[in-house]
Amino acid sequence: MHRYRMFIDGQFVDADDNWFDSYNPFTGQVWAQIAQGDADDVDLAVRAAHRSFNEGAWHDMSASQRGRLMHRLGDLIEREARRLAEIEVLDNGKLISEMESQLNYIPQWFYYFGGLADKIQGSVIPLDKKGYVNFTRREPLGVVAAITPWNSPLLLTAWKVAPALAAGCTLVLKPSEFTSASTLEFVRLFEEAGFPPGVINVVTGGKEVGAALIEHPLVDKIAFTGSDATGRVVNRAAADRFKHVSLELGGKSPNIVFDDAKLDDAVNGAISGIFAASGQTCIAGSRLLLQRSIHDEFMQRLLALAGTARLGDPLSAETQVGPITTRQQYDKVLSYIQIAQQEGARLRLGGGPASCGNGWFVQPTIFDRVDNRMRIAQEEVFGPVLAVIPFDDEQEAVAIANDSCYGLGAGVWTSDIGRAFRMSERIRSGTVWVNTYRAVSYMSPFGGYKQSGIGRENGMDAVDEYLQTKSIWINTGASTSNPFTIR
Ligand code: ADP
Repeated sequence: MHRYRMFIDGQFVDADDNWFDSYNPFTGQVWAQIAQGDADDVDLAVRAAHRSFNEGAWHDMSASQRGRLMHRLGDLIEREARRLAEIEVLDNGKLISEMESQLNYIPQWFYYFGGLADKIQGSVIPLDKKGYVNFTRREPLGVVAAITPWNSPLLLTAWKVAPALAAGCTLVLKPSEFTSASTLEFVRLFEEAGFPPGVINVVTGGKEVGAALIEHPLVDKIAFTGSDATGRVVNRAAADRFKHVSLELGGKSPNIVFDDAKLDDAVNGAISGIFAASGQTCIAGSRLLLQRSIHDEFMQRLLALAGTARLGDPLSAETQVGPITTRQQYDKVLSYIQIAQQEGARLRLGGGPASCGNGWFVQPTIFDRVDNRMRIAQEEVFGPVLAVIPFDDEQEAVAIANDSCYGLGAGVWTSDIGRAFRMSERIRSGTVWVNTYRAVSYMSPFGGYKQSGIGRENGMDAVDEYLQTKSIWINTGASTSNPFTIR
């Protein structure tokens, strides 16, 4: 049995011999134990981060030195990619091929944001008033609490840690209680890269640890990825204490296929949009909007291909669809399948548990004759369940696409360049993919419209989420003769 301890102020620490279990979703068995943190551990970690922000080696370091450490960290992640990917597969059941490509990609976040660290600069403002020089400094916010979910533990951690370090912040991480192991292995690399103690800390546990963290008075910013229900709790706690916050929440993303699209590409895009990672991604293309003129032909091709999906061991290169990460999520996905049937959607594929060892598997499931007002079209399932909705023309497609409380991603499949532009302007979501789906990069801003979130991760915009601007006024000589006037 593997045991993982928390990481506070540069030391691995246990929690008075309190541990909780981490399950392998493929076997349904416990594979590791994680230290059960509490509010006292949160306090120690936040204080360590606060100290490291305010004094000592990290505080005194130049931005270029910070960038070099981040570069070294990127190299170490590259060295450890396969091992970290395997831990993630054991913990969350996603396919080794996907986790390996994620882990091989993560170093880029540290290279890109490491390169950005010494290019963060303010400006000199040519004031309307004589006798002053006014300029701005862009300063780090301080201590960042980064709270992450179970579906892509290290990728989503990197999306927060890299820009926060570039800005000069320090962090306390709270990984999901279902997938804490890879984060604890990841932070080992910080010491080897040369980061001073306290810059990064990890406290493990469930919502009680998250709650202590978001309420801690020395936390300046909360960066959160997870469900919209928890996002609401985080946003409220941030509001009460005027903390900065960024939230990356749920989605019910439309994947829209027009009759002028290359249908084979669109079928592949529809399948990877919903069945990759067993649908457990916030950007899952869970609503497939099909133009009526191609509806039946498209369905035929879609069902034929989706029906060939190979379920199995996520560590095997042959497997195409893995298990659901947690038992609770497995139950939730199955309950949505029942709800869809009760609402009158027509089941065309799957529709229940898949038997595959002792793992928590759900069959790839497709419903058509879905009305966009049904719960299966409005609520995030976070599983391999696709809702197919017909439409007649562009206007109707936009209306259905935007009739959602979410706005994270959208796909548009068309050969008409004008239509591609029109659709990408009119859809209210943080990302629109044309003739592709699920593409992300460290260079491209990512985030949600509406209830899909606040703020942006990735790209140049991301570093702004960890900075604040100070305005500095220098009187170049003339002092005011009347102290009661404001100049
Ligand atoms: P998911 O099921 O997608 O992981 P959650 O929103 O439940 O979504 O969890 C995301 C992260 O938020 C996890 O690390 C979880 O422990 C944490 N969390 C859950 N509830 C709270 C809370 N009340 N306060 C702070 N963090 C929380």
